[in-house]
This record gives sequence, C-alpha cells and structure tokens, in this order.
Amino acid sequence: MQEILSCRNVMVDFSGFKALQGVNLDVKKGEILFLIGPNGAGKTTLLDVICKKTKLTAGTVLFDGKISLEKLPEYKIVHEGVVRKFQAPSIFIHLTPFENLEIAMKQKKGLFSILLAKMSRLEKEKIDSLLNKIGLFDVRNETASSLSHGQKQWLEIGMQLIQEPKLLLLDEPIAGMSGLERTKTGELMQEISQICTVLVVEHDMDFVRKYSTRVIVMHEGKVLSEGTMQEIQENEEVKNVYLGRSG
Ligand code: ADP
Repeated sequence: MQEILSCRNVMVDFSGFKALQGVNLDVKKGEILFLIGPNGAGKTTLLDVICKKTKLTAGTVLFDGKISLEKLPEYKIVHEGVVRKFQAPSIFIHLTPFENLEIAMKQKKGLFSILLAKMSRLEKEKIDSLLNKIGLFDVRNETASSLSHGQKQWLEIGMQLIQEPKLLLLDEPIAGMSGLERTKTGELMQEISQICTVLVVEHDMDFVRKYSTRVIVMHEGKVLSEGTMQEIQENEEVKNVYLGRSG
C-alpha cells in the first residue's frame, strides 16, 4: 500500500519541553489508522503539526509522496486535501445541515463566491448524497441546534468531507456519544475510508479494536510500537506503558 503521509524525525519543542522527540511514521492510503497512547504522549500535537496548527521544530511531513506540509500555510494544506475535525463541533447551529454543508462547499471556492454563487443542481445533489452518507438526510431542513450530539459530530465530519479530502484527521470522534452513535460513527469511518484515508486519535480501546486497520502507539513524544490491534496487544512494552494500565 502506498503512503499518503510520511513523518520523518518530527520534533516539537514548547519553550524547552519536548512534546515530540523525533516521530517517524507512515500513513498508508485507504487505511483507518488509530493513534493511541497515554495522556501527554504527543498524539494531539502530532495532528496539530500535520495540519500546521502547531509549527514543528525539526523534521518533515511529506504528503502524497511530494508535498512538504511543514512548508505550507494552513489554508494550502486544506487545499492539498488534508482536513481536520476537532473535538468540539464548530457548526452553525442556527442553520440547517443542508445550509451548513452549502457553506462548507462554498468556502472551498473562496469567500467571494459565498456571496455571489447560486448552487448548481449537481452541487445540490452532491450535498444530498453526503447528507445520506452521514445519516442526516431526514433532518436536513431542521435547525442544527436541534440535532443530537452524535448528529452534530457527523455534520462536522460532512463539512470536512464536502471538501473532498485525501486525508481526514479525527480527534476522539466518539467522545460523549451513545453506544448506537459510536457504532454509526465507526461504520461511517469505514465508508469514508473507501474514498479518503482516516487518521484518528482515540482512547476507547473497544472502538479501536473494532474499526482500526492499523494502530500506532505513542509514548513520551515518540512512536513506541505499530501493527494490528492484536499485535499491539501482545507487545510487552505497550502493555507496560499503556494497555496494561488502561485496559
Ligand atoms: P496527547 O494528545 O497524547 O494526550 P498532547 O499532544 O496533547 O498529548 O501533549 C503532549 C505534551 O505536550 C503534554 O505534556 C502537553 O502538556 C504538552 N503540550 C501540548 N501543547 C502544549 C503547548 N501549547 N505548550 C506547552 N506544552 C504543550
């Protein structure tokens, strides 16, 4: 499988505190790769580096075999196809799911078009099809404030997907969700992985076990181990620093 993202010797130094201490990892096209590890291991910092929310101190982040993300401004990283869904939803709660997706679609084209452009039939169909995929077609004309926590999270994922990314970064996507919502989110991730690689930070080991194609364990700003969930579970070092403690 070909790499969509390669981190080489990535370091982040927060005024003397080394949050990432030479991270080397590859994300392969089409996988659902989970980043796990104890609190403070550097997982969120790594996602922040990939989308340029945090600037790396040293190293490279190569995207799609040719683009050095660390050299690009944040908006160009989105343009190249790397999008991030943060933990807290940032949807427009007074608008409907359809309108939220309409704005996200127009954002991709630039602010000027938001004011001027009328949507084509094709664009409307694209939004409807996405609403179906994220399970919100039936509530597409309700105000987003009336959606459940899970539905808001899926809408947010939809707002990223409408940008047609190649790599989707998710930070604890099932936090605060009911059991049914968790299952739906896992299934949505599996569907998304048909068209876009997914890199997820997650603590819920049952969820990781069920939906990961591969797992990377981080510890103290470095990659400790990688493999399938089964391989990870059998690794003595991983058991010592993480799984043995948390489940
Ligand atoms: P994880 O996501 O694995 O829990 P983080 O990437 O959030 O870990 O944090 C890694 C370490 O870096 C932690 O010790 C955290 O306190 C520290 N850290 C994160 N962001 C900053 C920051 N902006 N300034 C200083 N220290 C930070």
